[in-house]
Amino acid sequence: MSARARIGVLALQGAFAAHCDVLQGLGVDTREVRLPHDLDECAALVMPGGESTTMSKLLETSELFDPIAKRIADGMPVFGTCAGMILLARTVMDGRDDQRSFDAIDIDVQRNAYGRQVDSFETDLTVQGQSEPLHAVFIRAPRIVRMGPSVTVLAEHDGTPVLVRSTTVMAASFHPELTNDDRVHRMFLGLVETAIKG
Ligand code: GLN
Repeated sequence: MSARARIGVLALQGAFAAHCDVLQGLGVDTREVRLPHDLDECAALVMPGGESTTMSKLLETSELFDPIAKRIADGMPVFGTCAGMILLARTVMDGRDDQRSFDAIDIDVQRNAYGRQVDSFETDLTVQGQSEPLHAVFIRAPRIVRMGPSVTVLAEHDGTPVLVRSTTVMAASFHPELTNDDRVHRMFLGLVETAIKG
């Protein structure tokens, strides 16, 4: 990665430390983002798993929501996992009434929607461009219930997309930061490199 490409990890709540560990393992300079000025020197942002309703509230109280929305509109790459994917979606089903999302990628998601497997499950996924399967951990995962033509599916589970991308946004229903496999993060770094080269 170029020296400019410091990657922020939204650190209001949830599994942000695991994302920092994976990115640092890949030699990336990371910054925990808790306040608007933390964003200033970040070329991209990761939104972790956790509780999207709580994160939505904390994004308001920390006054981070609007600056992040502006950076996304200006083309900053973002990667959301699980609750982070919910935050990036256009529409959130079964959320709290006051829950906000960034509408950064044209997907609608339903919270906690994996049938009776509401708590968690693990499975192996076939991922576009990867010859080896990817082990994926789903924890009270959101399900993508609609996606628009600007969205590319990178992996599916039982016919439902679980890893998707658009030009500058990647989103996963599962937790690639919790398995000992950095391939999904490397895919995001590829997207960041392309965005920076513009
Ligand atoms: N169910 C959580 C939510 O709605 C997401 C779970 C997770 O990130 N592991 O925010």
